[in-house]
Amino acid sequence: MLDDVRRALVVAAHPDDLETIMGGTTAMLTDRGVEIVEVVLTSGDIGASGEIPHGVTRGTLAAVREEETRAAAADLGVRDVVFLHRPDGEVVADLHLRADIARLYRRYQPDSVFTFDPWWPGQAHPDHAAAGRAALDAYMPSKMPLYHPEQLRDGVAVAQIKHVFLFGGTTREDFVVDVTPYWDRKVQATLRHRSQFPDPEQPLEWLRKWSGEAGARISVPYGETFARMDVW
Ligand SMILES: [Zn+2]
Repeated sequence: MLDDVRRALVVAAHPDDLETIMGGTTAMLTDRGVEIVEVVLTSGDIGASGEIPHGVTRGTLAAVREEETRAAAADLGVRDVVFLHRPDGEVVADLHLRADIARLYRRYQPDSVFTFDPWWPGQAHPDHAAAGRAALDAYMPSKMPLYHPEQLRDGVAVAQIKHVFLFGGTTREDFVVDVTPYWDRKVQATLRHRSQFPDPEQPLEWLRKWSGEAGARISVPYGETFARMDVW
């Protein structure tokens, strides 16, 4: 299903979304020579629980999480990470976000976009649904030269996206990617998020269970699921 992917852009909501949801697929694609750009709408700046240590603010946490994300991206061979600095927990798929994502589609010229399924009724995090909504909303106008023509200066062309893949729970027919050969890299990249997973020996049992259930559908140890959305 991913054989045609040459250059991909991932629209995520939070710093660890890519690693936990498609870290294995990302490593598989970059090993194959696919260029991947990771767009993260927030910097995960409310990603803390329990008693907040003295001196930790949303600003300091955002800086830490951006560093963690860049380290994880390097582990997975991701070419570039772009943060759009929307407030964590308050992402809205508004016209500004649509234009910001369209600008990135035009600048990076991906043939494929990966993002959340905004229609999945099981989605508990509003930022995930909003990220998917904004990414899909940007798709069509980004192809049209009269939409934000100021983005098309200096040789930047309209977007030419051919494939859209939805992740993170979908309403549509899934396919499963066997990520067993990339499992260790997925775990390593996930554990780069020390602010979220402070014990490096932590076995990430939830991730193992989640990926194991996906893998079981195609009789392999670990899988990641996606749905293909028809675009033209
Ligand atoms: Zn998330």
